[in-house]
Amino acid sequence: MNVQHEFSSEEVVVTYDDEKCIHAGNCVKQLPSVFDVNRDPWIDPTAAPADDIESAVNACPSGALGLQRGGPNTPELE
Ligand code: SF4
Repeated sequence: MNVQHEFSSEEVVVTYDDEKCIHAGNCVKQLPSVFDVNRDPWIDPTAAPADDIESAVNACPSGALGLQRGGPNTPELE
C-alpha cells in the first residue's frame, strides 16, 4: 500500500508518495530550501513562496509529489 506523506504550511500542502519517487532529484536541485533529504522532515513548504513550490512539484517526473494550494485549514470545495 502506498503511503502518502503530507507537509503543510499556511499556504500549501505538499504530498509525497515514496513508492512513486524514482529519486531523479529534480525537486532537490530545483528548490533545495524546501526539498532537503538531509533534513527531517525532508520537505519544508514554509521555506519558499508557494509559486516556487508549485513549479518544483510540477517538475517531478514520477508524480510522487503533489500540491494543494490553500493550506491544511482551507475547507474542501463542495
Ligand atoms: S522530483 Fe519527484 S521523483 Fe524526483 S526525487 Fe523529487 S519526489 Fe522523487
